[in-house]
Amino acid sequence: MEKNCLFCRIARGEIPAHEVHRDDRLVAFLDIGPIREGHVQIVPHAHHETFEMLPPDLAAAILHLGQRIAKVQKALYGVDRIAFMFSGGDIAHAHAHLVPMVEKTDITSRRYIAEDKVTFRALPNPGDAALRETAAALAAGLRGEPGGG
Ligand SMILES: [Zn+2]
Repeated sequence: MEKNCLFCRIARGEIPAHEVHRDDRLVAFLDIGPIREGHVQIVPHAHHETFEMLPPDLAAAILHLGQRIAKVQKALYGVDRIAFMFSGGDIAHAHAHLVPMVEKTDITSRRYIAEDKVTFRALPNPGDAALRETAAALAAGLRGEPGGG
């Protein structure tokens, strides 16, 4: 555990998050700047900087929880695909993103965009009430799945 790491602090419950799942090794919560409604992050309680540093069984647990959450997201949002990725661009605590793919370009690269100048807008901010509702719907979906907790 790193004292000031944001994701360690969320895992310890020191910083509130819109949680959809918590167990003895993992916590899953909503991204507060979601690419799409229901954009979830999964983090292990244990601090590992990047995904390739994760013990294999912990990496497998993250993938398995991701599979369970993806099924709930597909049912809730009516999408055919859920993106699952460790992008590692911001917080140095391994975390997986799960994004309901409403459009193919929901996950893409600057390298694929022809225009030289791309303007990024501020992160979407659904607000606390909407995030609370989304988290509750995903958590209920996880509880209701066959074999769900
Ligand atoms: Zn950490």
